Amino acid sequence: MIGVLEAKYPFLDRAVEIVGALGLRLEELASLGDVVDRGFERVSEAILRGVVSYRGENPEVEMLSFPVALMFVSLIGDPFLDRRYALAEGKRAYRLLREEPEEVIAEVAKNFNWNIRLRRVILDGQLYSFELHFVDYLRNASGFHEDKWKLVNRLMRSGYVLLTKAEAARLLECEVENLILRRVSRHRRVELPGELEKRIEMLKKLLEEHRGQIGGETLPERVDVEAFPPCIRQIFEAVLAGRKASHMERFALVSFLLNAGMSIEETAELFTSISDFDPEMTRYQVEHIAGLRGSRTKYKPPNCDTLKTHGICQNPDNLCGRVRNPITYYIIKARRRRRRKP
Ligand code: SF4
Repeated sequence: MIGVLEAKYPFLDRAVEIVGALGLRLEELASLGDVVDRGFERVSEAILRGVVSYRGENPEVEMLSFPVALMFVSLIGDPFLDRRYALAEGKRAYRLLREEPEEVIAEVAKNFNWNIRLRRVILDGQLYSFELHFVDYLRNASGFHEDKWKLVNRLMRSGYVLLTKAEAARLLECEVENLILRRVSRHRRVELPGELEKRIEMLKKLLEEHRGQIGGETLPERVDVEAFPPCIRQIFEAVLAGRKASHMERFALVSFLLNAGMSIEETAELFTSISDFDPEMTRYQVEHIAGLRGSRTKYKPPNCDTLKTHGICQNPDNLCGRVRNPITYYIIKARRRRRRKP
């Protein structure tokens, strides 16, 4: 029997057991239009909005669509989508959990083997609802940066941390996210019925169209000179040819190359053709920009506006109109080039 709890929290063991017991084959799944539609919608929402909604009208569809969405994400096999989807389902769970009675939160927590106890107590005007063993607390709270999550700032009793309802829901969000990330990261390849294959292609397209806006752009593994923006390309070639570069040109080039993934050694070596090349001074300056010396700040390349002011922006092309920093140009162009390769 599929209930509201399984629809809201389809990652629970009992929901997984129900799906397993149904023993649906892929062909049967592909014929369940509503379930496939909702699975597709879950992943689309994760891509477009960063959070998955809850549709409680039809609990069966809501629960069954979860493994379908997991399958889509896992088969797409993009680590960025893995993280984004896990995060979006985590947020969905958090939003639902914080509105639940304490008993439901405790039940979901038990699914993750939390050592948690209901304990209502008011201290300094704050209502605490739970005591959670510090090991379970640390496993999830250690990734949070705000001071209030540090163990030294928590109220503790005999190894148990006091938690409000919202805090327990927030920690459970981490558990859900990690669980889903583990499941979708097992990328695999299987033959799919045409309808499901079509949905996967649509999701891939959606992801590529929005990757730039949602921050999933990745740098190529090796520095791709062909993807350099015109301004950097010009300085790069001039320096290789032995021409002296102005202070701003050197700074723009070095900061760009380091942010594009070039090593300190390779970056410093570029300047060997320049007549007054001083290896020690060059290395010092490169290390400074890399954040290994001085203020320990790793510098980003100057924005296009600054480069324009210094007369370094030369021969901008169409892509330049879409970016504000040369490194963004590089990431987009490198991705386009990767996609063109077989
Ligand atoms: S617009 Fe920006 S990226 Fe393009 S050439 Fe000018 S400075 Fe470089």
